[in-house]
Order: sequence, then structure tokens, then C-alpha cells
Amino acid sequence: MKSAWSVSGLAVALACSTAAYSSAEVDAVYPAAHALYLELHQHPELSGHEVQTAATLAQQLRALGYEVTEHVGGTGIVALLRNGAGRTILLRTELDALPVEEKTGLAYASKVRTKDDAGHDVFVGHMCGHDLHMSALVATADIMAHSKSSWHGTLILIGQPAEETVGGASGMVKAGLFTRFPRPDALLALHVGNELPAGKVGVVSGIYDTNADSLRITVFGKGGHGSAPHTTVDPIVIAARTILTLQTIPSREVKPGELAVVTVGYIHSGTKNNIIPDQAELGLTVRTYKADVRKQVLAAITRITNAEAVAAAAPRPPNIERFEGADAVYNDPALTQRLRGALEGALGAANVLSAEPITASEDFSVFVEQGIPGFYLSLGGADPSKYAAARAQGTHLPSNHSALFAPDVDPALRTGIGAEVAMLREMLKPEAATPPKH
Ligand SMILES: [Zn+2]
Ligand SMILES: [Zn+2]
Repeated sequence: MKSAWSVSGLAVALACSTAAYSSAEVDAVYPAAHALYLELHQHPELSGHEVQTAATLAQQLRALGYEVTEHVGGTGIVALLRNGAGRTILLRTELDALPVEEKTGLAYASKVRTKDDAGHDVFVGHMCGHDLHMSALVATADIMAHSKSSWHGTLILIGQPAEETVGGASGMVKAGLFTRFPRPDALLALHVGNELPAGKVGVVSGIYDTNADSLRITVFGKGGHGSAPHTTVDPIVIAARTILTLQTIPSREVKPGELAVVTVGYIHSGTKNNIIPDQAELGLTVRTYKADVRKQVLAAITRITNAEAVAAAAPRPPNIERFEGADAVYNDPALTQRLRGALEGALGAANVLSAEPITASEDFSVFVEQGIPGFYLSLGGADPSKYAAARAQGTHLPSNHSALFAPDVDPALRTGIGAEVAMLREMLKPEAATPPKH
């Protein structure tokens, strides 16, 4: 027992000296990371079509000595670096961009246009910052490949397609992400945003973001002449009443303080001012944190939608279809606590903030739901002086998905690389460094 103590004590000391990262390591990889960022930013690809993006990442990771497998769930890539016995840790980046016309005015702004899946001509831009995540991941891969004495175990880096359309993660799982490759002991990811200034990171323990449910509701009526409403059942009036009553779910039915968002993002009905149509379609997004609140809200939407149709004597019940959704990402509390310590050591305690859960959603939850603890980090992306000015005025900087979203690349990318290396070294430090149990 005594000798075991002294060995693990030594291991702790060694691990502490290598668990963080040095700014010289980041400086060494930064020019290549920045160049990759500019290249990816100017060549964005839509969800499910990340062919060139995936090929670029695969080629760079292969050149660093990773075993790279392509086409894992569409354009997904899996890169492995084996470094002896130890834990297996997975770090994920997304690959996709958005159908948004970039209006940042930056010299390197995207000018790409393409056709979307529906055949519409659209602009494409990396307005969610996934280009920054990819650049950070490749730079992190570089540092880890050149410092193999600082860690051991197996490092898995993945490039996930189609995050924005919430299908890429399940595609990779179905394609064997956790069966064809070593099963990870923990999952890591980060996301850049303007909610925090660049240079800082935000940590949330437990529920990190929302459950998202996308609903398509078709309300049926009876069409006819606009001048003869008594011969019709007007679906536009039913839809209008339904929309208003739905707003009483968050305001009257859900317990105050619990998060529930019910947004009707579109209503489509009718062709001409003097025709009463025979149906109306509503598109909804529903956001919640808790599973029981989610169940309550979805049940209330069904109840209200059906009841409004009955109230109007609609000829048939509405059709309510949930066509896409994502579960909330859950940050494992023990893992979060451990990584928070590593991040504070690496970035300085003042740069690691306790953050609030966000109302966006994402499919990283699909990986976590395979029974593997996960940690999702918020990475500050806002220009610190613009952030301070916005705070002082009580306004917000453009959020992710805005045509004006533009992270302050230099500090955000450097911090992202440092945070990733610090988290990986923490998780991949010698097992013996774990304090002995009494
Ligand atoms: Zn996004
Ligand atoms: Zn995103």
C-alpha cells in the first residue's frame, strides 16, 4: 500500500505538470489553424453535403498520423490516435454550414451559392461557427500528436455532418461509431457564440440546452366563396384561434419558472382574397428543458389543436406531425466538475465562468444517450470591446445563425485549442493519477 501511495503521488505530480497546455504549443499551430479557418469559412457546405470539408479534414488528420475512416454516416469522419493503454476519449466537431447569406462585410466573407435539397438557389455561410470548431480540432490534433508523452490512451476525433438539420449524429451512431471503433469513456464538444467574450469559456453542469420538437399541424376546414362564409368552415380562423390559444400553454399551464417555448414560425393557407381555403398548415418549434414539461407541452398542443377544430365544427380532426426533434444535451456533473478544474488550471479561473443553459438545441445528445458521459463547453466568441459596449447598452450582439455573426477569431480560436488540449490531457492522464480511494 505504501509504495502504491508514493507511485500515484509521483504520477499526480507529473500529470499536474502536463495537464494544461503552454501558449507556445498553441502559438506553434496557430498560423495553420487560422489558415484552415479562412479556407473553411470561404468554402461552406450545406448539411449532408460536406464532401470537400470532410475531405480536407481527413487529409489533414491523416498527415498528422491519425487513422482516418471516411463516410461514417454520410460524410462523417472518424480519426483515431492510439497511444498505449488508458481511457478512450472522443472530441467532436460539426462539419456543416447554413443557407444564410453572409453580411458581415469581412474580407473573407463567404460568397458561395448552391442549390438546397428542395432545389432552391441559396447562399451558404458558416454562420454558426462550425468552421472555428473544425480549425480548433485539427490544431488540437496536431498538439496531441506531437506531445504523446503527455498522455496515453486512445484519442478519437470526429467530424459530424448535418448538425443543423439534426440527423448527423444518429447517422454516425447507426453507421457504427460506437461499435466499429473503440467505445469512448467520455465525449467532449464545444460551441462558439457571442454570449461570452472571446478568451472566456462557460461551464454548465447538468442540462445544457433544450429539448426541441418540430411540429407540422394541418387544420382542416371546408372551402368556398369568400362572400359566403356561412357555407364554409374557415380553416384560417381556426388556425388563428389555435395560435393564440397555444400561447396560453407557456403563460397559463406550465409552472412559472419552468422553460417552455411554443413558437409558430409559419402559417400557410389560401391562394386568393375571395376564396376560403379548405386547410391551413402551421409550423411550430417547441423548446423545453425537462422531460416532464416537454410531455406536458406536447400533450397540451394536441389537446388545444383538436379542441379548436371541434369548436369550429371542422369536418375532420387536425393532423399533428412531429417531423424532427432533438433531446437536451446533458453534461455529466462529475465529468463537468473534473473538466472545470482542468480548464481553470489551463485558462485561469477568471476565464472559466458558470453559464446558464441555452435555449438552442443540438444532436450531440444522441451520442450522450448511448450511455456515455458527455461534456459540452461554451466557447466565448464575442469581440471583448463590442461585448462590453452591448452589455452597457442592454443590447445583444448578432447570435449564431445571423447573417452578421462573426466571432473574434484570434482569441476565440486560441482559447478553443487551449481548452480542448487541457480537457483531453486531463482525461487521458495516467490512470494512476486518480487519487486512491480510502
Ligand atoms: Zn447552428
Ligand atoms: Zn452550431
